[in-house]
Amino acid sequence: MRFYVPEWDDHVDADYDFVHDEHSALEKSERNMAYIWDIFDHETTPIDGLLISREQVEDTSTKFDRLTSHGVYEDPLLDLPEWVPTISDCGAWGYKSLPFPPYGNEDMLDFYEDLDVSIGVTIDHLVLGSGHSARLYLDERAFSDASLEESDLPSTLTDAVDDVMVDEWPEAWPPYVDDYEPSLRSSGDVEPFSAELFQGDPESVLQRLAEDPRAVYRPDDMQFRYDLSLDNAAEMRDLLDEGDYSFRPMVAIQGWDEDSYRKAAERVLEMGYQYLGIGGVAGSSEEVVKDITEAVGNEIQSFEIEHETRVDCHVFGFAKTGAFETIGRSGMSSFDSASMLRAAWTGGENYHLDSDTRYDALRVRYPGFSDDLETAIEKALRAQELLHALRAFDNNRSIATALREWNESAKEAIDALPGYLEKERESSRFDHSRLREVEAAFRADYDHARELKASFSDSLRGKLIKLLREEDADGTVPWGEYLELLSAAHRVFDGREPTLLSTIEEREAESGAQGTFDQLWPLVESYTAYVGDEDLLPAYEDLLLDEPWRECDCAICSDLGIEVAIFRGNNRNRRRGFHNTHRFYQEFAADLPRLLVITKGDAQLSRPGTVETYLQEQRPEFWSATHDLPVAEVGVMTANGIHEWWAETPSTVSFAPDELSESLAQECIRYQDVFVDVSDGKIDHELRDRIEAQNCTVHTFKRQHELRKAVFDRLGFPMQSLLSGF
Ligand SMILES: [Zn+2]
Repeated sequence: MRFYVPEWDDHVDADYDFVHDEHSALEKSERNMAYIWDIFDHETTPIDGLLISREQVEDTSTKFDRLTSHGVYEDPLLDLPEWVPTISDCGAWGYKSLPFPPYGNEDMLDFYEDLDVSIGVTIDHLVLGSGHSARLYLDERAFSDASLEESDLPSTLTDAVDDVMVDEWPEAWPPYVDDYEPSLRSSGDVEPFSAELFQGDPESVLQRLAEDPRAVYRPDDMQFRYDLSLDNAAEMRDLLDEGDYSFRPMVAIQGWDEDSYRKAAERVLEMGYQYLGIGGVAGSSEEVVKDITEAVGNEIQSFEIEHETRVDCHVFGFAKTGAFETIGRSGMSSFDSASMLRAAWTGGENYHLDSDTRYDALRVRYPGFSDDLETAIEKALRAQELLHALRAFDNNRSIATALREWNESAKEAIDALPGYLEKERESSRFDHSRLREVEAAFRADYDHARELKASFSDSLRGKLIKLLREEDADGTVPWGEYLELLSAAHRVFDGREPTLLSTIEEREAESGAQGTFDQLWPLVESYTAYVGDEDLLPAYEDLLLDEPWRECDCAICSDLGIEVAIFRGNNRNRRRGFHNTHRFYQEFAADLPRLLVITKGDAQLSRPGTVETYLQEQRPEFWSATHDLPVAEVGVMTANGIHEWWAETPSTVSFAPDELSESLAQECIRYQDVFVDVSDGKIDHELRDRIEAQNCTVHTFKRQHELRKAVFDRLGFPMQSLLSGF
């Protein structure tokens, strides 16, 4: 069972300066970008694969060019390890309001080849909804001259259909669209809609629109989308059979209830697909997902038994821990979700220990764009003092001392500035036309540049940088303009004491302890009142009393402590998302362990064909006992690694003992248990020791039916329940 995460540029600055909230380099391209697989190591990375949607790849033309020219494994930015399998699909959510997916089958096959992904998915179209819907699609570009707006459409028409979907249509539609809606092909320049076109009774309006290249009407659009997804699957199957593609195909199925999904599964199994993907369930309730996976799973299991084959199945956009058991028992092989990652910054309860224990990270806010300079400085100072206090609290240090030390560095940063500027402002190091380069020069040269931005706001440093850029050899910026900026800082800072310093000092003196909740809490109360977050105080109290980051052994919490529990900017929030993903993965691995079932290959494995054919012909008893096992991955081992059941056979095979134990130990890093068929011999001690050194338990079996039973026992699933609809 594999957990995939959708790729959505989820990276952080590996060398971020948390104390001053500064990136390692101002130029994005110069930063060392860390993805989740960079932060965790091979064994602990809390994902088993990456889902890359075309819609996301096309987010910018630079990204599209980069990924299609390098491929996902050679791309310098992603720098994806070879062990991370990749699924690529169209990203049906992105074009849900278009009458057709904007991609053609051949085009998608080329795209998957260019991306060099492990698995490519057929083109589906979300059915959207649970009943049969009449939908009218209109090209948004025909509303562009504003003489007629969407809101001007007569209600007699909009009431007559279930949905009106207005979206910008692509310049050109893929070729298959011709078979369904030939009028769309003729669209060149888009003529604006006239109000008259929509007048009259709905029936005659829809009739008028029938041949219109700017409109598509369908009385049963859900059925249409369902059939279209199946038609695309059939067309892509033909192309796959004719061509030679390096990725494994997956067929995406759609539906609106158990039965429609089950029928779709039946159809695509007949087409010969061995990896199904259940689409359109993202956002559905746990019960709905359970019912659909059970229905599809039962269909697959009958097929597996009837044909003595194996079929994998993926659930798109699924992350309900309560449905793990059903997902496992239904024979699902993989699923994906970004919800625990995104939950880190999209609302409350954003720091997860598990699916029930969730906390609110403490929001320490940056000044807003519309704040005047003095307000921005005050907000920056308030944020910094709280951040320093939180770190002292986490380290059991004196909060009062931390505040005093910070106040001193802030003072130095502003006090040393006039002297520095008088001496350096005309320096040639600031002779750049781009602000970012001037800022980089200032950051590198002025000792307190980071503290200046942290404590006196990005706004103050930014204004200063603009003045420095204006300087040239003749000294064109009057000194008074600098003084104006400096005096704004002095008006806020001079005579200012860190908030509640004396209260904190008194509490420290009274208790004799340092960095306690009681010493920190008044400052948190005062800060939340200042930024208007008082409603979050009860949640913050839970967070600071429980200190959940101390309970987490992930690379992020261990390294950064309380920073992960602070809601502030991409570098904290996305790292918290990685942490949430890690906690989710632990729950997943406890319920649905990573299991590998293998048999040793022999020279016959190098004959052309698939590993499945090899197993059917050369290892019939093993295959018969394992081909329908749930949750586990099934394959053949050689010195080259594990050859999964669905793969093409390798052209050469080796069984050199040293290489065999080396590569198997590598492969087992991410498995909890490996079940080895040793019916033709036994596993040597050294190999067992190598694997077990990777925290993976080795089970060996001379009789395959015992192996089968052991897998069910390990999962806690009763063997006979497989097909009985548990
Ligand atoms: Zn953690």
